[in-house]
Amino acid sequence: MKSFLADFLYLFYPKRCIVCGRVVHPTVDLCEDCEKELKPITVKTCQKCGNPKKLCCCKRYVYHFRGISSPYLNEGSAQKAVYFYKFGGNKDSAQFFGKVMAERFINDFPDIEIDCVTAVPRNRKKRADKDNTLWRFDHSARLAKCVARELSVPYKPLLIKHKSNKVQHLLSGKERFQNVKGVYKAEQNNFVNVLLIDDIKTTGATLDECSRMLMLAGTENVYCATAVISA
Ligand SMILES: [Zn+2]
Ligand SMILES: [Zn+2]
Repeated sequence: MKSFLADFLYLFYPKRCIVCGRVVHPTVDLCEDCEKELKPITVKTCQKCGNPKKLCCCKRYVYHFRGISSPYLNEGSAQKAVYFYKFGGNKDSAQFFGKVMAERFINDFPDIEIDCVTAVPRNRKKRADKDNTLWRFDHSARLAKCVARELSVPYKPLLIKHKSNKVQHLLSGKERFQNVKGVYKAEQNNFVNVLLIDDIKTTGATLDECSRMLMLAGTENVYCATAVISA
């Protein structure tokens, strides 16, 4: 019965490739062409900055978070999928990335027991847990919820953005760290290991500031996971 219903729904709402939108088989997330351009990071990565070892940026930046893990570099199909997810809000994309991010994290940090998953908040004065409407949807919160489900731990909106700031990607590396200072607040807590989720890591300035605030609020260790990493 369940399968009949799924087939019936598929007729009207066929599953689409999360990169190009082409209709795909209900059991896959990407069409064959886009799948070929999806290149998971297979080389050894630096656990502190998340980059492949030869692109390690630890000399430039010292982070508050203990470690970071990402399944893909910000290129090819992964880059396109993140872009379309951010602006289209496709739930299939969130589930896809949530699953691979969780798998990657377990693989990179097998001994770390995560107490809860949280997200970098997107919108000022709004906790990172509401994703009801398309234009107001919080892409990091939705990703974080999917990662939490995969890891079987709770999702907690611990952070809030209480000040507006400039758009990060228009700024230089140093400016990005200054631009996020004092922009976030964290709820008091006593978690040992919190996993902080965002869609992309570039300089890591936002993740670092959010980690700092979580630690000031009582979290012992912060780990990060992003869908893609810009090395
Ligand atoms: Zn495709
Ligand atoms: Zn490094």
